[in-house]
This record gives sequence, C-alpha cells and structure tokens, in this order.
Amino acid sequence: MTPFAQVQNHVQSATTALKYDEATLAKLTKPDAVHEHVLQVETSLGTRSLPAYRVQFNNARGPYKGGIRFHADADKDEVQALALAMAVKCAVVGIPLGGAKGGVSFNPKEYSKNDLELISRAYASAFASVLGVDSDIPAPDVNTTPEVMAYMLDEYEKIIGKSEPGMITGKPLSLWGSAGRGIATAQGGVYVLEAYLKTKNESLSKKRIAIQGYGNAGAVIARLLYEKGALIVAVSDSQGTAINEAGFNPAELDALKREKKSVLEASGQNSPDSSAVLISDADILIPAALDNAITEANAPQVTAKIILELANNPVTPEAEALLTSKGVDCIPDVLANAGGVTVSYFEWVQNRQQFYWSEAEVLSKLQTRMEQSFADVLALKNAQPTEATFRQGAYVLGISRIVEAMKIRGRI
Ligand code: NAD
Repeated sequence: MTPFAQVQNHVQSATTALKYDEATLAKLTKPDAVHEHVLQVETSLGTRSLPAYRVQFNNARGPYKGGIRFHADADKDEVQALALAMAVKCAVVGIPLGGAKGGVSFNPKEYSKNDLELISRAYASAFASVLGVDSDIPAPDVNTTPEVMAYMLDEYEKIIGKSEPGMITGKPLSLWGSAGRGIATAQGGVYVLEAYLKTKNESLSKKRIAIQGYGNAGAVIARLLYEKGALIVAVSDSQGTAINEAGFNPAELDALKREKKSVLEASGQNSPDSSAVLISDADILIPAALDNAITEANAPQVTAKIILELANNPVTPEAEALLTSKGVDCIPDVLANAGGVTVSYFEWVQNRQQFYWSEAEVLSKLQTRMEQSFADVLALKNAQPTEATFRQGAYVLGISRIVEAMKIRGRI
C-alpha cells in the first residue's frame, strides 16, 4: 500500500466510526490542489531538472500549512500522504490551519551549500503564486533547515515586494523564527509520552529508549529524554545502528553529528544495519526517520511496548495490527509529532502581531496544548464501541473537527 493509500485508509476508518457517508469520505481524501513544477537549476554538478511538488489539502479550518522535504524518494504520492496527515494533525491539536506539504525529489547530500540555496530559491519562486501568509505557509521537514526557510522567505519577499515573515515558519531566530521551534517536535513528543505514562502510573526514569534517525527530531528527543533520566540504549542514522546497554550520553552523539560523522562511530556495539535499532531491546521505540520503517516483516521482532511516532507514517497498517495484537501502544504521528506544527503556528501568530514570546512562554503554551490533545485523543479512543487504537482516536478527533468546519461552510 502506498503512503497516500495508508493515510486515506486511516481517514476511512474514522469516517466509518463517525458514520459519515461516502461523499464525505471522498471530499476528505481528495486534495484541493496538487501543484507540480520541474525546477531547472544551474548547480555545481551541472544543470539539473528537479521534480517539485506542493499539495494543498483541505483549508476548511484555515490556511494550508506543512513542511517541505528534500529527499530522493519524495514523490507526488508521498507528498499527498503527508499533506492529508497535516490536515488531520492541525485539527487534532486544534490549531486554525489546514494541510499541505511540499517536496523536491533529489539527494541534497550530493550538492553544495550554494546549490541548496539555489534550489530553495527556485522552489519559492516556482510556487510563489500559491504560497502566502493567508493562503499556504511552508516549514522545514526532512533535510530542510532554518537556513533553507530563510532563502525561501527572501526569494518570496523579492517577488511580492514587501516584508511577509509569516509566509513561512521554522525560520532562524534572527529572521523572526520562534523561540523553541528547534526543539518543538521532540518536546511535544515528550509531553505526550509523559501524559501517556501518567495514565499507567509510570515515568520516564530508567525507561530504555531506542531512536531511529538522529536528525532534527531524533537527536533532540534523545537529549530531552536523557535529561529526564531515561536510558538511550540504541540510536541509528542512515549509516547504521549504535547500541549501548548502559545508555548513551547524547552529548557524545551530538558531537559526532556536528563533525558530520555517523552515530556508528560512537562507543558501543555497532552495526551497519540501520534497521537493527527497531528490534533492539527497549521499552520505548521512537521512529524519527522516514515512512514505512516498521512493517509486517520486522513488527514481530519489536520488543518495545510503546511506539512514539516522531516520524510521519513510520508504521504500516499491517504492522500496527500485529503490534496491537501483542499489546503494543502506538502513539500516532498526528499527535506525537504535532509539537512542530504547533510551535510553527505560534511563530505565525508572533509574526502576524510582530510581538515575540520567550522560550518559556512558548514551551508552556506547547505543554498545555499537547497535554490537552492527548487527553482529547484518549477520551475518543475510550469512547469507541469496540477496542480502538490511539490512531483511531486521533483520526476520529481530527476528522470530526474538519467535517464540522466543512459543514458550517456548506461544503458538505
Ligand atoms: P532530518 O533530516 O533532520 O533527520 C533524519 C534522520 O534520519 C537523519 O539522522 C538520517 O541519517 C536518518 N535516516 C535516514 N534514513 C534512515 C534509515 N534508513 N535508518 C535510520 N536512520 C535514517 O529529519 P527530521 O526533521 O528529524 O525528520 C524526521 C522525521 O520526523 C520525518 O518523518 C519528518 O517528517 C518528521 N517530522 C519532523 C518534524 C520537524 O520539525 N523536524 C516535525 C514533524 C515531523
């Protein structure tokens, strides 16, 4: 099943639970617009033609919102999947935004910093007519950074001829990014995880954690969980898996990453198999890399009892069914990684009012919203007539909010 079909299935399961008709399902699972361009860029490796996408998915609750991914596997299907999940995610955390996602299909690791600037500017220029502070607001995703957001903002403002910092989020602080945005995805995940553990009268102390992916999301959650007394026993990146039964100090791993090295060079028992992390001996598994990491092939070997989806779509539906039957709770992406878009929303609010909050204010607002969203999802999970997963609870919450807005607008 493709990533888009997977997310559409999650929506279908919610519309069935909510007893919505086929016409409503069709409207919910069809994008409002799929914009495509081929970016022609004169890079240091020669002229390149790079397929680029922007998918806009349901603006009933507010302007479209979603990150831009630079990855060789980014394609129209994946971008549509991520855009639909964004619409649901924004509704789950109750922010006034719709869904969108962007992607450029290329491997950024092959290109120089200057090439990346040219590609970022080409993207902003190609899609400028459909982006905007009141229409569609991009943000970072895999392999896109605050600097990439700065290039895109600069190019966009040149085109529209005025300052418009709220047209993109995840910007550097010096260009009016939000305090706390850099850690928001991981911090939101920690708030949700703590709320979940509280329902079991447990805490993070001494919990054994395995993290797949050591980038923006994975490296930050490693540090935050370590500071809470958890043991980071396994981590991976695209080069392989590093295991340390006594627990890593993330400072050591962060130092390797600053030197552009792999976690494989950390002290411990290491393997060039990136997926070994998924079946390592852990209480909590945090996929924080790419889609479809946990499938029916490796799910039977997963030992963790809790999966916190910091990545988007990391667990296939078949794998989730297997895991659920083993008593594993999967805290879904549309809740677990929603801290990123929540603080992007705070950044947008601050840009619009040109009045800025401290990191403590941002994190306090984030905590309140993530804890409330977890409670809302749990309540709906428990309210289903038959045993439901956290994903079903979250999709029922998000979809019912979107449909309410569509109905009141007369769209259905
Ligand atoms: P990133 O590019 O900063 O990091 C990705 C990491 O995954 C890197 O360490 C890379 O080496 C590793 N990786 C790639 N392929 C791998 C493999 N096969 N096995 C193990 N590791 C592998 O990206 P990110 O921003 O941290 O995003 C990671 C995931 O989190 C994505 O699914 C993204 O959509 C999701 N997410 C990110 C944010 C955010 O604010 N950054 C917000 C919400 C969701």
